[in-house]
Amino acid sequence: MAEPSARPGARTHHGIAVSDGVAHARILRVGQARRQISREPLAAGAVEAEVERLNQALLGTRQDIQKVRDQVSAAMGAAEAGLFEAHLLVLEDSTLLNEVLRKIRTGGLGAEAAFHDVFEKYVSVLAAVDDAYLRERAADLRDLSGRVLDHLSGAVQEQDLQHLPEPCIVVAHDLAPSVTALLDRKNVLGFATEAGGKTSHTAIMARKMGIPAVVGLGPLLESIQEGEYALLDGHGGLLTINPTDQTLFEYGQLKQRRALFEEKLALLREQPAVTLDGHHITLAANIEGPEDMAAVQASGAHGIGLFRTEFLFLNRSTPPGEEEQFEAYRAVASQTRPGQEAILRTLDLGGDKMPGDLNRSGEPNPFLGWRAIRISLDRPELLRSQFRAMLRAGRHGRVRILLPMVSGLEELRAARAILESCQQELKAEGIPFGESVPVGVMIEIPSAALIAEDLARESDFFSIGTNDLTGYTLAVDRLNERVARLYQPTHPAVVRLIHATVQAARRHGRPVGVCGEMAGEPALVPLLIGLGVDELSVTPALIPAVKFLLRRLRLSEARDLAEWALGHSIGSEIHRRSREVAVAAAPNLFAER
Ligand code: PEP
Ligand code: MG
Repeated sequence: MAEPSARPGARTHHGIAVSDGVAHARILRVGQARRQISREPLAAGAVEAEVERLNQALLGTRQDIQKVRDQVSAAMGAAEAGLFEAHLLVLEDSTLLNEVLRKIRTGGLGAEAAFHDVFEKYVSVLAAVDDAYLRERAADLRDLSGRVLDHLSGAVQEQDLQHLPEPCIVVAHDLAPSVTALLDRKNVLGFATEAGGKTSHTAIMARKMGIPAVVGLGPLLESIQEGEYALLDGHGGLLTINPTDQTLFEYGQLKQRRALFEEKLALLREQPAVTLDGHHITLAANIEGPEDMAAVQASGAHGIGLFRTEFLFLNRSTPPGEEEQFEAYRAVASQTRPGQEAILRTLDLGGDKMPGDLNRSGEPNPFLGWRAIRISLDRPELLRSQFRAMLRAGRHGRVRILLPMVSGLEELRAARAILESCQQELKAEGIPFGESVPVGVMIEIPSAALIAEDLARESDFFSIGTNDLTGYTLAVDRLNERVARLYQPTHPAVVRLIHATVQAARRHGRPVGVCGEMAGEPALVPLLIGLGVDELSVTPALIPAVKFLLRRLRLSEARDLAEWALGHSIGSEIHRRSREVAVAAAPNLFAER
C-alpha cells in the first residue's frame, strides 16, 4: 500500500521502552480504550435491523463464553467454570433483554446505547450494595457487557490476529499473554500499549520475538485513525504517528548502525560467558516452548534457565496431557548440548496468565491469588502429569525441575512428596525416567527470600524471579503503568533480598540463577554478578549483548559495586552506579543499541 510522502499531523507519544528496535508500519488497533457509545437516534426503518444486530452480538458472545467455559473446565475443573455458566444465564435473562429491546423498539436507541444503559443500571445497583460478593458480581456483569459491546462494535477478535494481511504495529490498551501467543509473528513488527510495565508479559513476549515494544503510553487509542502509519522506537520509548520523512531517514540510519553491531555480537556465539578475570557465568535462555529452541541455538545460550511451561496450556480448549507434555520437554532436553541443562518450571498460571481469559473476570487481585504452585497443589492431577512428563524427559537430557511462587517450606515439601510418589509410580509401571532430577525453588516472594536458608536445606538450587520479587517487595503491580516509576529492581530492599538469597544458597552449596528481566538488562548485569549469582537466564535475543558485556567485565569490580550497593539506600543511585560500571566496560554496547 502506498504511503503519502508528506505526513501532516506527526505526533509523538512517550512511554516505557521495554523491547529494543525500530519499526515503521501501519497501525493495527486491537480492542478499544474507552468505549464510545453512539447515541444517534435510530431511523424509523432501521429498528428491525438493529434488533438483528443485537441478536448476532448476543449469539457471538454466547459462543465466546462457551469456548472459554470449556477451556477453563478442562484445565481447572467444572467448579471453576461455573462463573461462565452464570454469564450464559445472564445472557438469556428475559427481563434484562426485554428491557434492552424496548429501548431499541420504542426508545429509538441504537443497540449499543440500549444494551449499555440497561446493563449499567444493574451494574450500578449491584456495585452500591454493602456486600462484597454482590459487588464482585457487578464486575462480572460489566465484563459480560463489554464482550457484547465488542461484538456490536466489531472490535478485532483475537482469532483474526493469527492471520494479518500486511505488516503492522499492534496498538492496544494492553495485550494478554493468551492474545500475544496467538499473534501472526510474520506480520507483527512491534507492540505499543497504553498500559503495562517493564516486566508485563507483553514486554517479555516482544523481547522474545525480537520486536520493539513501548508500553505505558497512556490514553492513545482514541486519537488514532484507522490506517495511520507509525514509527515505534523501542529504545527511546516513543511512538510517532505519521512520522515525517526526516524522522524516517534518521531512524533508518540508526537501524543500519544497529544491524552492523548485531552482526559483531553474533560472532560471540561459540564463545564462553567469562569475565576478564576468568569467572564463568552460565548464560542460559528463557523459553516458552520447543519452538523457541532454534533461537536458543542461534543465540549461543548455555542451556535453558527457564522453560515457562504454562504457555503449553494457553489458547487451547483442553490441557496437554502427560504424553504431549513429555514430547515438549523431551524436545527441549534433547536439544541442549552436552554439559548443558534445561530447567523446566511447573505451571505458573494465574496472575495475568490464565487459559482463555479467566483472568478478566476472575479474582479481584490475581497477583495475590490463585497462582502457580497454589494451583498445582490444589490440582494435584495437573502437577502429577507435569512431574511425570518432566521426569521422563530427564532420560533424554539433563533436566531440572523448578517450582514457581513458593512462599514457604510447606509448599516445597508438599510438591516434593508428590514428586516422590510420581517417581515410585513410574518405577512400578516400568516407565524409564531420569533418576536424579534436581528440584529448585523460584525465589520471587519476599517470604521465600527471607527463609532462603530453610528452602536451601531442602532443595537443590534457586532461581530468583526478579520480576515478581520486585513487585511483591515494593507492592508495585508489575503491569500498572501508573506506578511504573516505583518499580525498581535496584531498590535496596530488593538488592538485599537477592544478597540474602545468594548467601543462604552458598552456605548450602546450592547454585543460584536469576531468570527475571533484570538478568537481561545490561546495565544491571554488573550488580547481579557482583552479588554472586552463578547463572543469568534471559530471552534468546538478549544473549549476545549480555555475553558481550560479561566478557568485558571484571568480577572484582562487580564485587566492589555490590558491596557498595549493599551499604547504600537509594535505588536510582544503585542503578546509576551499576550502569556506569557496565558502560565503562562496554561503551559500544550502550552507544549502538
Ligand atoms: C519472575 O517473576 O521474575 C519470573 C521469571 O517469572 P514470570 O515472569 O514468569 O512471573
Ligand atoms: Mg514470576
